[in-house]
Amino acid sequence: MSKYRVKPGQKINLNDWDPDDKSEWPEGKKEAKEVFIEINKELESLQELLYAENKHKILIVLQAMDTGGKDGVIRAVFDGVNPAGVRVASFKVPTEQELSHDFLWRIHKQAPGKGEMVIFNRSHYEDVLVVRVHNLVPQKVWEKRFEHINNFEKLLADEGTTIIKFFLHISKDEQKERLQERLDIPEKQWKFSSGDLKERLLWEDYSRAFEDVLYKTSTSHAPWYIIPANRNWYRNWLISAILVDELKSLKMKYPEPEEDLSKIKIV
Ligand code: ADP
Repeated sequence: MSKYRVKPGQKINLNDWDPDDKSEWPEGKKEAKEVFIEINKELESLQELLYAENKHKILIVLQAMDTGGKDGVIRAVFDGVNPAGVRVASFKVPTEQELSHDFLWRIHKQAPGKGEMVIFNRSHYEDVLVVRVHNLVPQKVWEKRFEHINNFEKLLADEGTTIIKFFLHISKDEQKERLQERLDIPEKQWKFSSGDLKERLLWEDYSRAFEDVLYKTSTSHAPWYIIPANRNWYRNWLISAILVDELKSLKMKYPEPEEDLSKIKIV
């Protein structure tokens, strides 16, 4: 999996990263669906352990171009986890109140507590992506945000948060197909927004902004993974596999019972 991880200080040209790649798929593979069911179960048990142990905090950041598959990941990868311990925080256009504060104000409030897993559907990275591409604040303001973001994530990490960031990488052709599906398939039409077509025209600007994000904010305590995302099954499997690895490395344990249970008799 480490080949998808952006090393600290690694310059990124997204043209060098193949969104169709599926090279880590296990050899002698079973059906993707079967493998995915198994890994989903593993993730479920690890999340149960996270919740029971009530010690670690997990933050998962999802960023992508429009139609990149953030919603699909949330549905598929976290299917089956205990909703009591998992929360999705979606970040939309900031409200007036949010805008009147610093850009991390609304973000920090949503960070995970002990035993909790929080998925950021968009995040503080919008403040150096859409904000930059649309000049919503002057360059001298957004430029400083990379450092603020790194410091913020270091603070979370130092206080016990494991941070894993996924950039779902699709091609421009794949986006065209997905937008076309939103026009053609009645069940998907609700997702269509003509705004997405305007953003598509800015594909190159967004790509450069993402490259900068990946280069400047992938750190040892909060790494970015570039996930090939043209194929949904590969995207879902890879993200699950990375999460399972990360959770296993925490060496979590169920808490010891309060007293010697062997002596207790229920009458
Ligand atoms: P999604 O596309 O994530 O499913 P929406 O269609 O509601 O959800 O889009 C959310 C919108 O909010 C996106 O266009 C995104 O760029 C915008 N947004 C999120 N954060 C910010 C921000 N900090 N400043 C400006 N726009 C933002």
